Amino acid sequence: MKFNTKVVHGGQKNVDPAYNAVMPPIYQTSTFVQSSPGEHKGFAYARSANPTRTALEKAIASLENGKYGMGFGSGVAAIDAVMKLLKPGDEVLTSTDIYGGTHRLFTQIYADLGIKFTFISMQEARNMERFINQNTKLIWIETPTNPLLHLIDIQAVAKIAKKHSILLAVDNTFATPYLQQPLALGADIVMHSATKYLGGHSDVILGALVVNESDLAEKLYFIQKASGAIPGPQDCFLVLRGIKTLHLRMQRHCENAKAIALFLKQHPAVDQVYWPGFKSHPNHHIAEKQMTDYGGMIAFTIVGNQKEKALQVLENLKIFSLAESLGGVESLVGHPASMTHASIPKEEREKMGVVDTLIRLSLGIEDHEDLILDLKQTLDNVGS
Ligand SMILES: *Cc1c(COP(=O)(O)O)cnc(C)c1O
Repeated sequence: MKFNTKVVHGGQKNVDPAYNAVMPPIYQTSTFVQSSPGEHKGFAYARSANPTRTALEKAIASLENGKYGMGFGSGVAAIDAVMKLLKPGDEVLTSTDIYGGTHRLFTQIYADLGIKFTFISMQEARNMERFINQNTKLIWIETPTNPLLHLIDIQAVAKIAKKHSILLAVDNTFATPYLQQPLALGADIVMHSATKYLGGHSDVILGALVVNESDLAEKLYFIQKASGAIPGPQDCFLVLRGIKTLHLRMQRHCENAKAIALFLKQHPAVDQVYWPGFKSHPNHHIAEKQMTDYGGMIAFTIVGNQKEKALQVLENLKIFSLAESLGGVESLVGHPASMTHASIPKEEREKMGVVDTLIRLSLGIEDHEDLILDLKQTLDNVGS
């Protein structure tokens, strides 16, 4: 089945054996009647499994070309479940520019529980081998990264992980399976914040994992049930509905990002434009290798180094809303230095490239001409 058919039908056969509803019903129930102890139709208690959640788990697994899917109450709950595979003394190798919430979970929860984290730049995969030792049990990557859209070569990292028998987990939130499928490139675990593009409508918080290997799946299903960070059936339904249009939305997100990147590049008030589609982007060759398009995210800096000018630009936008998050149908703008990356000390932040004049855009599915006019009116006035 081709991807565009899978988003509509993948893993979705016979979702309602009772009445043949086309969409999986929302099974708003905590428990299921058993005919005699332990005898039931596959569902006993809804923390372990709920039919609406199972439908979503099958759909996401199908999109990622994986065998097993698990839903969680949020993206970070999905990451938390992966971390519970580890024991004190284990080490995790990860990249410096991962999602802030992932960084917080690693350094402020799991570091205290005896797990060691090493943060390195992974844009050159061959540089990472010297950071591996016999305690390294997990490599955690995210590509494209937030907010500077660096790319990591998944296949190259997977080769190194395999050689040393280390699990490789890829946060595929920014790319979505429409653009990139990490399991096929050698990853063991794919993680999603379905809150973003999979849900796609900024109306739900939900996370997911997909794996191919049955032992690993069994451990993660056990953690899902034992720790209990599951999503409710209504939220599963919303993400299922979102997924049905993932391919159409992603296509428009990518088209809009390209149009806006080209516009920003020629505007005199703009300095750097970060978009993996530019041939001049340092990781453009990786995008060509592992992605089918360049995604719906862009970052750019305003000329000079005055934070006030950047704030003026984003505060005067009319269509773009100033908000955290991304991946919804509406265009959003953010100021990483004072929003998503505010917890990182200024000096460290600037070394990463997250300067005060950096602005991040999540392009929605509006008409790109309206988005360009909106950016133009505020950029034309910068400095005045
Ligand atoms: C939002 C996000 C998360 C966390 O997901 P939640 O659903 O907010 O818990 C993890 N990784 C990335 C890349 C994200 O953008």
